[in-house]
Formats: sequence, structure tokens, C-alpha cells
Amino acid sequence: MTEDYRLEFAEELVGVPDPFRRFWTPYRMAYISGENKPRGNRPEDGCPFCRAPQRSDEDALIVHRGEHCYVIMNLYPYGPGHMLVCPYRHVAGYVDATQDEVVEMAELTQDAIRTLQEAVSYIHLTLPTNREV
Ligand SMILES: [Zn+2]
Repeated sequence: MTEDYRLEFAEELVGVPDPFRRFWTPYRMAYISGENKPRGNRPEDGCPFCRAPQRSDEDALIVHRGEHCYVIMNLYPYGPGHMLVCPYRHVAGYVDATQDEVVEMAELTQDAIRTLQEAVSYIHLTLPTNREV
């Protein structure tokens, strides 16, 4: 049996395009290693999305505050312009949001997309939720 694979070292792949168009985001290692990660799933466990609105916009990287939700730049972005639209209320996932929160999340998401389309030439859009199933 022949082994037709080759072990690749991440440090050799910086800036090298690949068929999967992977992002190279070594700065995310700070978060992956535990920086600013919550200790659990409750707000009092250090939930970053509950703490952020209590800080100044500048300190928390908040770019818009709505009535039910706010928009924040990701301190550990997957790519340029990585924003999050979050309800002020601690919710486990999208299906737990109220109708008012869902409507405002949708409107703010549209606004964020329009803003990014004007500001940058490349947009990678994902609409994730933090639901553990
Ligand atoms: Zn929270």
C-alpha cells in the first residue's frame, strides 16, 4: 500500500492560495487559546455578548446600537469586516429570539451587508448562530 498523502505545515501555507480558499487567520489563536472565552453558557459566565453593550462603543467595537440588537466588529475576525449582529438579551440561539429581536437582526444584517458592499470589494457572508445542539 502506498501512502499518497503529504503532511502540510500551516506556517508554510501563509498567503498560498489553495482549492478550498482557506482564510489564514493566525491572530485567532489568542481566542482559540482561551482569551476572552466565557467559562460557561450563562451570562454571568463571562458571555462576551452580554458584556459588550455595558462598555463604550469604542472599547467594545460596537458600530451600531439598535433598540433590541447591536452590531459589533469581531475582535478575532475570520476576515475583513467581520461583524456580528447580537440581541442585547442573552439567548442561546436564533430560535430563542423574540419577534422584535428577529426583525431587528434582519434589518441590521441588511444594513451591515450594504455597508460592507460599499466599503470593501470582497464579502464573505455567513449567518451563524451560537447554538450548541
Ligand atoms: Zn450573553
